[in-house]
Amino acid sequence: MSIKLIFVINCGSSSLKFSVINPLTKERLLFGISEYFNNKNSYIKWIINHNEQKIEFNSITNHQIILNYLVKKILMKYPNIYNKIIGIGHRIVHGGENFTDSVIINSKSIEGIKQASIFAPLHNPVQLIGIKEISKIIPHLKNKQVAVFDTSFHQTLSETAYLYALPIHFYEKYKIRRYGAHGTSHKYVSKTAAKILNISLNEFNCISCHLGNGSSITAIYNGKSIDTSMGLTPLEGLVMGTRCGNIDPAIIFYMKNELNIKINKIYKILTEKSGVLGLTHLTSDFRYLENYYSKNKKIKRAIKIFIHNLSKYIASYTILLKEKINAIIFTGGIGENSILIREKTIKKLKIFGIFLDKELNNYMKLGKSGFINKKNSSIPILVIPTNEELIIAQDTFRIINI
Ligand code: ADP
Repeated sequence: MSIKLIFVINCGSSSLKFSVINPLTKERLLFGISEYFNNKNSYIKWIINHNEQKIEFNSITNHQIILNYLVKKILMKYPNIYNKIIGIGHRIVHGGENFTDSVIINSKSIEGIKQASIFAPLHNPVQLIGIKEISKIIPHLKNKQVAVFDTSFHQTLSETAYLYALPIHFYEKYKIRRYGAHGTSHKYVSKTAAKILNISLNEFNCISCHLGNGSSITAIYNGKSIDTSMGLTPLEGLVMGTRCGNIDPAIIFYMKNELNIKINKIYKILTEKSGVLGLTHLTSDFRYLENYYSKNKKIKRAIKIFIHNLSKYIASYTILLKEKINAIIFTGGIGENSILIREKTIKKLKIFGIFLDKELNNYMKLGKSGFINKKNSSIPILVIPTNEELIIAQDTFRIINI
């Protein structure tokens, strides 16, 4: 059988991640990142056969320049990879209510992505640029592109979970509601956990904690998302690296009316200057925070606030899962690596009969996957490295083969 590969593209606001994946063997043949667009520090680096290569541009770049460089100067240099690409998968941050699954890219789905841009103004427009540009660079794959949405996994939420208690016309007319995010990651880790525990996915119940620069938590019942902490946008929910998560909305009016801070500045404060960065005035990097936990009071306090919030969410989601919780899952850069965050969070949950095995917890980092609970724990606790790119590659393969 000939090898078929999928080219996965993830356009961020000023970065681009990419990979070429075999969706059947799960092998990642080439992958990399380009960062700092619109800035002279822009670079692209990629790994192939365990070798890292890097080009620094020393000039202003953008998504268009990087995609051209990536295909013409990198991918085409490896014809045994490039010639086997049969489809392109794009990560799309927001699908609004238009998409409950990944879809083929055509004029109708492009229109739907445009409509949802209002909820993800930093992401959807650049992801549309990615689609348009790559269609020009690789025209023979123009009709073999698939959009995979961060929001579609959460389209199974009931009205009870997705409606805010605002005057109802704000939903009916303007579609203001909870959409959630990180759906691809929650879907991947829950599917993987069900397989590990040998439980059929449509009977699998879990709480999935994706803790990275952005963090969200999802309650999954019978394999479907039934509640999630991110809302209309990825600002709601848990305390994050630089985002505030849940706050009293009246704080915004206080900042505006009493402190005379402009509304755009307030948005910047809440999204870029808050979270553990804002609490410490130091960093949002949990590697650093973890190292100085016992030595620095502000760091200790920030981590305690992070854990207080996370454990409250886990506890409240247990009641949504009714009769049985098959697993609690930790994933994302922090969930996969932070021994301290997992230990302190699980300690707070002992009322549920959940117990951590310290030795297993200490071992689980840097891409390792497995259980971290004691044998007598009422709920298995798993660490599973997320793999959003693989889901994008597999969905793309599934949809272009329909
Ligand atoms: P993104 O949301 O951008 O995908 P990641 O999932 O890569 O982010 O997570 C980034 C976070 O993971 C950062 O806060 C980083 O400090 C944290 N992290 C990465 N490695 C470790 C580690 N070994 N120990 C603790 N935290 C880590």
